[in-house]
Amino acid sequence: MRCKPIPQIGRVVLTMMVGCGLLAGSARAGGDELYRAAAELRAKYAAELEELAAWCDERGLSEEAKKTRGRLGPRDPDKLYLPVLPSKIGRARLPGDSPPEMLEWDRRLTRLRRDQANALFELARSAVRRHRASLAYDLVLSAIRANPDHEAVRRLLGYQKYRGQWRTAYQVRRLRAGEVWHEKFGWLPNSHVRRYEQGQRYHNGRWITAAEDARLHRDIESGWVVETEHYRIRTNRSIEAGVQLGEKLERLFRIWRQIFVRYYASEADVIALFDGRARARRARGPKLHVVFFRDRDNYNRSLRAVIPNIEKSIGLYLEQTRRAYFFAGKGYDERILYHEATHQLFHQSRRVAADVGRKANFWIVEGIALYMESLRREGDYYTLGGFDDQRMHAAQYRLLKDDFYVPLEELTTYGMQKLQADPRVATLYSQAAGLTNFLVYYEGGRYRDALVAYLAAVYSGRDNPGTLSELTGTTYSELDKQYRRFMENQGR
Ligand SMILES: [Zn+2]
Repeated sequence: MRCKPIPQIGRVVLTMMVGCGLLAGSARAGGDELYRAAAELRAKYAAELEELAAWCDERGLSEEAKKTRGRLGPRDPDKLYLPVLPSKIGRARLPGDSPPEMLEWDRRLTRLRRDQANALFELARSAVRRHRASLAYDLVLSAIRANPDHEAVRRLLGYQKYRGQWRTAYQVRRLRAGEVWHEKFGWLPNSHVRRYEQGQRYHNGRWITAAEDARLHRDIESGWVVETEHYRIRTNRSIEAGVQLGEKLERLFRIWRQIFVRYYASEADVIALFDGRARARRARGPKLHVVFFRDRDNYNRSLRAVIPNIEKSIGLYLEQTRRAYFFAGKGYDERILYHEATHQLFHQSRRVAADVGRKANFWIVEGIALYMESLRREGDYYTLGGFDDQRMHAAQYRLLKDDFYVPLEELTTYGMQKLQADPRVATLYSQAAGLTNFLVYYEGGRYRDALVAYLAAVYSGRDNPGTLSELTGTTYSELDKQYRRFMENQGR
């Protein structure tokens, strides 16, 4: 596997809003019942869809039968699926003069989808009340996949209706101000679009050519600034490159916020959100800053003074400056983009300790970033994790073929320096990736809330080597055994 050396970086004290407390280990109570109810809902929906598909088959509506069966979507239990949501409100309707059987099929499918979304959402609301935020988000994501126009779920996910589209509050503000999102140039005043497309650029109150504009932004200090909803990207590559990077970062941000809601929000906040009493709160504070260099050479030269071994990295997050740094062109790596941006999200979404992972538990700081590297698009979904990801291949290989494994009892005592100075660092990173996937997926996600609580404890400096065992309510030797079973039995 590839090993990306991560530069060791000094720490500074960060000041951020106080986040949530620890999730108690008692969270398990009532959990099994919820998982059963979720599985029953899914099974019932599958049976109803199959019944409708068979009805279509009998009438020779083979295309409709296929569409009906396709509504279930893929379901690998070792992956998270996050639906790609349409922004347009309302589904495509059949023409009014369609054959009556087609109209009936459409009506029945719509009703099934709507009922399923409602049932999933109700179950999600009880899951949140029983300390199961992870399951609750799983359920609302299934609900929005069944019915992309479910209003309560859309609101919960931060959307509102605006001119026939689902938009975030930020988008509505910019649209109201007379701007549009241009896929190449990002947010632009409406009146600028045509001239931008003709190759002109607006700079300091006047119109100039694209070539002159590029010359003016050649150095990173005077680079273009691309603003997205949660990021401020400075780049001397091109506006277009900054915009593309911004889209990826926003995608990561949105997904990260859903999975780790209990990292930055209190349980009361999450309940209020699910009850429709609060809007999806967005980090109102300063945007996350990212610097995107023209190329590898420019990145090396600009950062060498701060990071002497900069050429060994292909991207990094620097706590002192609270910025993530990447470069475009040859050597650009999307996985490292998600990796370092994940470090930034964990550092800047709540108040964190000055010495995260210094004394112990450092493996999870890297494990969770390695896990988020796997973000990719598969059809109508963004996915995370899975045994088909290269990190999981490596983790499986090291454990099962090389018989390499450092027991959790020992691994959790490793601080940053100990782990990074270890000659087996690359293999330890593989194990960290494997263990993180285990905590996300084992037995339908039974440890996922404990994992989020573990991250909150480690980042807020309230951890010790026994924290993970306490939060999962399971001894380390038992977790070791479960991990081995997970790696042996799944993803074959
Ligand atoms: Zn890292």
